[in-house]
Amino acid sequence: MSNTSTISESVFNFSAGPAAIPRPVLKRAQDELLNWNGQGTSVMEVSHRGKPFMAVAQKAEADLRKLMKVPDNYKVLFLQGGGRGQFFSVPMNLAKRGDLSQHLVSGQWSQIAVAEAEKYMTAEVLAKTQTKDDKLWVPTQEHWEINPKAAYFHYCPNETVDGIEINWVPKSDSVPIVADMSSNILSKSVDVSDFGIIYAGAQKNIGPSGLAVVIVREDLIGLARPDTPAVFDYQQQANNDSMYNTPPTFAWYLAGLVFEWLLEQGGVDAISKVNAQKAALLYDCIDSSDFYSNKVCDENRSKMNVCFQLADNRLDAAFLEQSEKAGLLALKGHRFVGGMRASIYNAMPLEGVKALVDFMQEFERTQA
Ligand SMILES: *Cc1c(COP(=O)(O)O)cnc(C)c1O
Repeated sequence: MSNTSTISESVFNFSAGPAAIPRPVLKRAQDELLNWNGQGTSVMEVSHRGKPFMAVAQKAEADLRKLMKVPDNYKVLFLQGGGRGQFFSVPMNLAKRGDLSQHLVSGQWSQIAVAEAEKYMTAEVLAKTQTKDDKLWVPTQEHWEINPKAAYFHYCPNETVDGIEINWVPKSDSVPIVADMSSNILSKSVDVSDFGIIYAGAQKNIGPSGLAVVIVREDLIGLARPDTPAVFDYQQQANNDSMYNTPPTFAWYLAGLVFEWLLEQGGVDAISKVNAQKAALLYDCIDSSDFYSNKVCDENRSKMNVCFQLADNRLDAAFLEQSEKAGLLALKGHRFVGGMRASIYNAMPLEGVKALVDFMQEFERTQA
């Protein structure tokens, strides 16, 4: 097997997901792989119910609670099925609250959540992203109203595909707000008590794909349809510390290492400042040139997924080829939108964004 570690030191991975994992986390996982916890085996090969792994699971939860200041009346679940697994788990688990769900559709992911909810609910779309002054804009809450009879209200505060972020939280006195935070969880602080349920597929800001973290208010547990599969039933999983079935232990362990790393960085407030700096640098580069453009209005520009187009899309292939050669990986935009997308989650260091901006300016100069 070849040793690629010397090469990978110098690349920056802008993949939208699965996305970059902090290098110190990968190094530690590598160091511990063959002999974890002094046991002579890897963490993947031990019982999830044994004391050593239980300690890993509990510490991961405690660290996540600390990072997000999760109130005591919320359960934290580590489940399988990723982000999409929650698109059906949410309607199935909240069914006893009624059969009406309401949705803000800001992009591809929140649209798919509607399609899944429709299998179990009457799913109403209250508003969708629209074009305002030629830019994509998400209608704010004064333009629509949550029906107090709804079982829940669902939205996605960061749409990974178009690079749209919503910087306000929808409010309702009686209807639980459910947020798909797959691509911006832990990137900035949120007040968990504003939400009934927060969920996230892990592969953007937490760790390996397949895992989903679900933070659910206790009064919303135990309301599932009777035909809800046990592994997706919040009650079953909460009663069993997310170990009703064998959990994805390696993913859980790695998520725990990422939480530890984030605490070492100073936590969510500290990383959110770096994230703001990274995004500002990149949008400034885009805005200060006619060569690049971005389609999202200022207030909805994502700090995690920065999409941009080249004025002449015949140069896209050259841009991608040369950026890849320069060690700036996975900048191709989503196949639905084309152009470029730089995903700059927590694990992307400021130097990575600086290197990208330098490359973009140099590319423009040599093409002009
Ligand atoms: C990536 C993503 C998903 C899908 O997650 P899977 O783990 O592939 O099911 C859902 N929602 C958002 C916002 C995402 O970014």
